[in-house]
Amino acid sequence: MYQNRSQVREDAADAREFAQIAPEPGGDAIIGTNLAGQVAYLNRAAESMTGWSREAALDRPLDEVCCIVDGTDRTAALNPLASAIRDDKATTLTENCVLIRRDGFESIIEDSVEPIHDGKGHVAGAVMVFRDVSNARAVERLDTESALRKALTQDEFLLHYQPKVRLDTGELSGVEALIRWNRPGYGLIPPLDFVPMLEETGLIVPVGAWVIHSVCRQIAEWQRTGVGAVRIAINLSSRQFSSADRQSLELETETTRAVHAHGIDPTLLEFELTESVLMSHAEKSVAILHRLKRLGIRISTDDFGTGFSSLAYLKRFPIDTIKIDRLFIRDVTRDASDAAITVAIIAMAHSLKLNVIAEGVETREQLEFLRARDCDEVQGYYLSRPLPATEVSQLLCRGSALPARAY
Ligand code: C2E
Ligand code: MG
Ligand code: MG
Repeated sequence: MYQNRSQVREDAADAREFAQIAPEPGGDAIIGTNLAGQVAYLNRAAESMTGWSREAALDRPLDEVCCIVDGTDRTAALNPLASAIRDDKATTLTENCVLIRRDGFESIIEDSVEPIHDGKGHVAGAVMVFRDVSNARAVERLDTESALRKALTQDEFLLHYQPKVRLDTGELSGVEALIRWNRPGYGLIPPLDFVPMLEETGLIVPVGAWVIHSVCRQIAEWQRTGVGAVRIAINLSSRQFSSADRQSLELETETTRAVHAHGIDPTLLEFELTESVLMSHAEKSVAILHRLKRLGIRISTDDFGTGFSSLAYLKRFPIDTIKIDRLFIRDVTRDASDAAITVAIIAMAHSLKLNVIAEGVETREQLEFLRARDCDEVQGYYLSRPLPATEVSQLLCRGSALPARAY
């Protein structure tokens, strides 16, 4: 990624002398520290990015000269030079780090850090090569945002469907709709890479409405073509299920409109909401959920166990299903606490007379563990990845390949 790396590494070993004679390599900023973490070298680009002159910076603690925070939560970023020295290996900052200049101005940086060695091969310090990527990021963001604005009218979104299977009968109990963006020139983009931007820009409202309409259309089509009555779950984000009455009304109106337009049975619709979305406006959530339930829609709590549900609310929310987060299922057969949490969630769901499903089931062992503990349903790569509608139709019509694995 950076030019002249080997030259930088060699020269930085002799930082002070190097500073007198070195050309500026590639325009990247370079900062070097000794073993004690004090600044031993700073090139001109680093002077302008940190706001510290070389003379003032030398021998000061690195954190004072090069103040880096996490761009999202503003906590101090881990000093990558210290870990390069400690572990004697190359490293980088986590993404989205912000360098705060001496005068308070900020820039988003990308870096690479390497330990430097003395003549005997012992670690003698570390060097960080970094650059300001604020403009590149801003341009990239603007690009993505304007592409997202067009994506809906250009028909670039699509839904894949991941089956859910009942553990007692091996029958397919429904599918979950998962959005993908077929961005021209980029291929199929996963939701985690664009849903947050849809939320920030408010585009999640029209795109969410598109998802609801597409799902209703799919339910109608599967019934019309004889595939059967298939329940489809839709993921809702906080912006769609907001405390603002206008938005939740819009959700209700849009859903009612889609149900009528496609003439489907609303009990075949399910909304998946994460705990944090439900709990962020708990009192309002109770009212909104009751209204959705009156329309006949089923409700499930997604990623259960990672948020902080109040058990008192859990009793008041008109929920049908609890979906145990993938995080607990991953090590459920190896980690005693994950197993204990999973068993406790299943027991709690059953005592509240709720259906319980585990997501992220990837192995036969996980499936058997869940079956032995009376989990009602499972979903995960072991049974099927999310698939295009045509492939799910075949699975539904054949009805055999999938359940066979569940037995
Ligand atoms: P989610 O609702 O918790 O969906 C489960 C995610 O886990 C999906 O990722 C799915 O492909 C993945 N998954 C399923 N089985 C396994 C497994 O066995 N192992 C592993 N490692 N992963 C598995 P995907 O499709 O990338 O979706 C990510 C998230 O994006 C979803 O999490 C959901 O929160 C959000 N999302 C997806 N579609 C929509 C949508 O239409 N609207 C909104 N608002 N959010 C959506
Ligand atoms: Mg989900
Ligand atoms: Mg989930």
